[in-house]
Parts: sequence; C-alpha cells; structure tokens
Amino acid sequence: MKTNRRNFMKTAGIASLSTVIANKTFAKVSSSGNGKMKLTFKPYNLQLKHTFTVAGFSRDTTPVVLTEIEYNGIIGYGEASMPPYLGESQKSVITFLKKVDLSQFNDPFTLDEIMEYIDSIDTKNRAAKASVDIALHDLIGKIANQPLYKLWGFTPEDTPMTSFTIGIDTAEVVKQKTEEAGRFKVLKVKLGGGNDKEMINTIRSVTDVPLYVDVNQGWKDKNHALEMIHWLSERGIEFIEQPMPKTQIDDMAWLTENSPLPTIADEAFQRLSDVAKFKNVYSGINIKLMKSTGLREAHKMITVARALDMKVMIGCMTETSCAVSAAAQLSPLVDWADLDGNLLISNDVFRGMEVINGKVTLNNLPGIGIEKM
Ligand code: MG
Repeated sequence: MKTNRRNFMKTAGIASLSTVIANKTFAKVSSSGNGKMKLTFKPYNLQLKHTFTVAGFSRDTTPVVLTEIEYNGIIGYGEASMPPYLGESQKSVITFLKKVDLSQFNDPFTLDEIMEYIDSIDTKNRAAKASVDIALHDLIGKIANQPLYKLWGFTPEDTPMTSFTIGIDTAEVVKQKTEEAGRFKVLKVKLGGGNDKEMINTIRSVTDVPLYVDVNQGWKDKNHALEMIHWLSERGIEFIEQPMPKTQIDDMAWLTENSPLPTIADEAFQRLSDVAKFKNVYSGINIKLMKSTGLREAHKMITVARALDMKVMIGCMTETSCAVSAAAQLSPLVDWADLDGNLLISNDVFRGMEVINGKVTLNNLPGIGIEKM
C-alpha cells in the first residue's frame, strides 16, 4: 500500500509531500482491513433549466450515470454524462460498467494499473471510463484526507474565471440570459446558427465582459470563417472554439495560421494520443473529462499541450457538481475554464466547486471536493 501510494504521488509530481501524507494516513488505511473495491452505479436524468441549443440540435435533459466505488467504508463518487452527440447512452455505460471487475485490485492507489485495465475492456465508452476514473480519484483523495489539487501540488488561487454559456436563441432570449448571467466575468457564446452577428450585437448591448465563442463546427467555408473571426476580434472575443467541421483539417490549419484570435479544438479530439497532431492545426485544446476518460489522462494532456506550446482550456458537458468539481481540481493549470455544466441543471445531487466573483473556487473537502446533498 505504502509503495503504491508513493508511486501515485510521484506520478503526480510531489514526492516530498507524498511522504508526509503516506506516513500520516498509512496506519489508518492499513488498520481498516484488507479491503476490496466495490463499484456500484445508477442512471439519473439531469433536467436543464433552459432548453439548450447549439449549432445542430436542442435538448431539455441530459442522461448521466452516477457511480460509487466503496473501499474500507470510504466512498468515492464518479459520473458519466452522455450528451447524445457523443454516442454513449445510459444503456451503453451500464453495459460497460457491468463488465468492470474491481475485485482483482486491492489498492485504489494503483490507479494507473486499474485505469489501463478499464481502458482495455473496450475501445469506446469514454464517459463510462471517466466515471470510474473520477470515483477512484475521489476515493484516493478521501483516503489521504486531502483535496486532489493539494495532492498534485497546485495553488488553488491559480484557478481561472469560468465562463457561463449562452446558447443560440432569439435576440429577446439572448438578452434575458445575458442579463441573468451578470455574476459571471466572462461569457461563452454559441455561434453557427445563422444569426451570429445578431447574437454578438445583442450581448454587447447588455455587457462588455470578455466573450469566448464556440461555433461547434458550424462554419463550413474557411473564408467566411476568417471574415467572421476578424469581425469578432474587434468585439472583445478571446478565442474561437471549433470554428469548422473537425474533418476539414487543412482548412483549419489555414484558418489558425491567419486568424487574429486563438483557435481551440473541441469536437476534433478526444484522447491523449490525439493532442500532438493538432500542433499548427489549432492554437489549443478544450479538455473534457468525458472525452479524456477522466482526470488521469486529462492531466497528461495538459502536460503534452504545454510541451507543444499550445493553449489549454478545460470544459465540461452538462453534469452534476460531481464531474464539474473533478475537472475544477485541474483548473489551476489551464488558461481558460468553461465549468458551468452544473449551473445549467435544476436537480444537482452534489454540492462542490463554487463560482465566486466569476472565478472557479476550490474548497478544502478531500478528493474531488464534493458532498452529497
Ligand atoms: Mg465546445
């Protein structure tokens, strides 16, 4: 146990702190018995406060699966969120999780080994895998009695502002939503629905806060895209997320080379192995735990992107405070955060990361920093 804990901490890059934590908690964990990890899970439907529209579709609910891993009486919480365009469903997640046998492992600190096993079960099921990864990280933090950001050695004050998302809608609704989002210091605007300039002009009639733009692959022509980016660059926009279809790689590289604003890949990539090929195609990447199979790979993605001198954003799906708070633990390392998924729903089951004065604010709770409500 002690060796595994040290290995985890060393991977996390904080050998000296790990020694302190290992010594502090080793006796407690050992004395609580030679436990086995037990995975349980249940489907849950998130109710959206407002119908959510982006380029391509609208929806009122998002299906999720909530997971728990119990070990020696301690419970780690996880979550898989399945917006329909990602190809996973409650059924596919539950089918996957039924195949998971954690009884072969007797130490949650062997997280690399466990996640390699989880990844080997199927080539797909990224959200399902994330639900296990998040619960394991929560469990490890709770055993060590420390928030993950502390185990990783991050400074909690380094967290960024988070944006609040305004979906594609009529000028009247956009105006109302912008007014309601007054406590956020930055907004993310969905474009690509055919009323782009009206959307921006409406928001600018209400607020001067910086804006992020997400086109969700909505611009098909590179010249139109560049023209729009020039227009946006004069209106306080910070970056453009997924302006063109993910398949138009040469057009995207041309656009990034000529764009006055950074371009960020979202739909275009999922896993760690995808990151390096986007150097010179996009300026940066939007990491989401439901794409990356959780925190372990997301953390590695940040390291790779920084080595390639790329920008890093951390985002989320519509999720409870469980997965959003997990992502927030990594946020001291990123340039931009879009962690508002829990704020878009009316039936959250956890309390966790808060947005205070527009900023991602981490608490001192161990693990991913959540409590069940
Ligand atoms: Mg996006």
